[in-house]
Amino acid sequence: MADIEIPVLTTTVDKLVGWARRSAIWPVSFGLACCAIEMMAMAANRYDVARFGAEVFRGSPRQADLMIVAGRLSRKMAPALRRVYDQMPEPKWVISMGACASVGGIFDNYAIVQGVDQVVPVDVFVPGCPPRPESLIYGIVQLQRKMARTPQPLMNWG
Ligand code: SF4
Repeated sequence: MADIEIPVLTTTVDKLVGWARRSAIWPVSFGLACCAIEMMAMAANRYDVARFGAEVFRGSPRQADLMIVAGRLSRKMAPALRRVYDQMPEPKWVISMGACASVGGIFDNYAIVQGVDQVVPVDVFVPGCPPRPESLIYGIVQLQRKMARTPQPLMNWG
C-alpha cells in the first residue's frame, strides 16, 4: 500500500490574523484634491487594486483600517481629518499620497498643512504630483510588507 502524504501547514493565530488583515485592507474614503482622482482610478477596473485586497473603500471610519490622504490638507480641514482618524479602530495605518499631502507641494503657504504627518502618524509616503495609480499600489504593497513585519494584536480592547 502506497504511503499518502498529507501536507500540513502550521502557523500561529497571530500570524494568521496578520495575514488576513494585510490581505483585506479597507481604506476610508478621504479624497482631498486632484490626487484623489488617481486614487479612484486605482480602484477601478484598469488598475484593479482588488488584486491586492484593498478595493473596499468605506464611507465610515469605523469600518476602515487605512486612511489614504489624497491631496493637499488645508488647516481648516486638519481637525476633521484628525477626527476621522481617531474614529478608526486599531490597528490602523495611514498613507500620505502626493507631494502636497507629504510636504505641502506647490502650496507653500499659510493655508496648507506642510506635511500631514503633523496631524496623523504616516506609515508610507507616496511621492508624485500626482502619483500614478501604480505608485499608490506600490505604496499599498510597501504597507503590506510593513504590516507583515509588525506584530499584530488580535484585538484592541483599549
Ligand atoms: S500633489 Fe499634485 S495632484 Fe496631488 S493634490 Fe497636490 S497638486 Fe494635486
